[in-house]
Amino acid sequence: MTEKITIAVVGSGYVGLVASVCFAEIGHQVICVDNDEAKISSLRDGEVPIYEEYLPELLARHRNKSIEFTTDLHAATRRSQAIFVAVGTPQSQTGSADLSYVDAVASEIARSITEYKVIVEKSTVPVYTNEWISRVIERNGVPRDLFDVTSNPEFLREGTAVVDFLHADRIVIGVENERAATLLRAIYEPLTSGRYYQTVDAVPGVRSSVDPPPILQTSTKAAELIKHASNAFLAMKISFINVVSNVCEAAGADVEEVSRGVGADARIGPKFLKAGIGYGGSCFPKDVAAFRYVAEQLGVDFGLLREVEKINAEQKRRFFQKVRSALWTFRGKKLAVLGLAFKGGTDDIRESPAIDLIGQFLMEGCIVSAYDPAAIERTKQVLPPSGTLSYAKDAYEAAGEADALLILTDWQEFVELDLDRLRYTLRYPIVIDGRNLFDRVIMAQHGFTYLSVGRAGGV
Ligand code: NAD
Repeated sequence: MTEKITIAVVGSGYVGLVASVCFAEIGHQVICVDNDEAKISSLRDGEVPIYEEYLPELLARHRNKSIEFTTDLHAATRRSQAIFVAVGTPQSQTGSADLSYVDAVASEIARSITEYKVIVEKSTVPVYTNEWISRVIERNGVPRDLFDVTSNPEFLREGTAVVDFLHADRIVIGVENERAATLLRAIYEPLTSGRYYQTVDAVPGVRSSVDPPPILQTSTKAAELIKHASNAFLAMKISFINVVSNVCEAAGADVEEVSRGVGADARIGPKFLKAGIGYGGSCFPKDVAAFRYVAEQLGVDFGLLREVEKINAEQKRRFFQKVRSALWTFRGKKLAVLGLAFKGGTDDIRESPAIDLIGQFLMEGCIVSAYDPAAIERTKQVLPPSGTLSYAKDAYEAAGEADALLILTDWQEFVELDLDRLRYTLRYPIVIDGRNLFDRVIMAQHGFTYLSVGRAGGV
């Protein structure tokens, strides 16, 4: 049995909140910090600000016991052995990562250090950030032997964040000495030893796990690079299959078949080989740009990543053109849009291709009725309802009298739609599927004109 470690997590967003709740779940005492007072106060009331499976249950299990919420970073630092920094690292004008939140947190932490602390970069940050954080802390008068800065990048995926955290493919710890490594290893011990998975009330998705996640101990710089390289590689895989899908369209082949065949090669693997309207979200676009920028700064031309970005933008444009050629003219046409989130299973709309496309359709004079199982409220904040944009309570309401139905997010709920009901609800049975959710033959049997990605023509 490991000791209960007191951990502060700074930033209670998708990563910080999930990490906090999961650290509590594996037996630690967690102080979850954010400078957004409204967020902290609703978390204290037990309200979960994001849509994520198992998060409400775990929060309810640990709230007022092993997890507490505060805006007081000073007190949280004082009381903790490790401080995980999980604030945002958005993209700046130049494409580089904006590290001002990390900088601000580092200075604030520094002012509260009176005994040894391990500061952990949980946010995705460029290589060398650990050295900057150390410099900031030292500049604030903290002796070098009172702290270590480490890197523990997060690989969770929104939509399956809790399960991903509790059963990661690997846990990367970037450290420069054994003292810091020992603490990080102790924090993750309930997972790496497999002990957590034996507990009766472990999260269902991970309870039966037999293989505990391995810990990869690297240098801090390597850990920082692992995260950027991983995300850049995944984005590249998506852009790759998207170009292949365009070749398939031109050649009259089905990219789903091609993707199955390519992905069956163990050296390639089937994941992230799904053609669509391009990647989005709060990570891939900014991390690809940031990694490209870092490489440039280090004198390395990572032109491959420029191409990945170009293909991604082009994929969205091609979808827009597909809708245009299906409808001929746009002005006054009613579009039913299914999906707002950047992917299924989350309410996150950051850099969602759907939001961008809706904006373009509205500019062309379309009337849009949109539905998403989780992301409507967030979307209303950036695209408020208007004379030409409304939000529906379900897919069928959105489809009512629409000239075409567009699928922009891969929600499982959409796969399970009653196709006959949908067919009779639409004014014209045209479905333009940006996520290849349906079988073309089945759609044809149900009387749809079905256009998708990388599958030649319509049926
Ligand atoms: P987020 O925007 O959801 O959350 C960031 C939180 O930090 C916000 O609640 C904000 O109020 C808080 N914050 C900002 N400045 C603060 C300060 N000075 N003191 C206290 N709190 C502060 O962001 P996120 O999606 O959780 O991402 C956080 C980091 O993790 C980013 O670097 C991101 O790239 C990385 N990451 C994200 C994901 C993901 O799927 N979202 C996955 C892996 C890694």
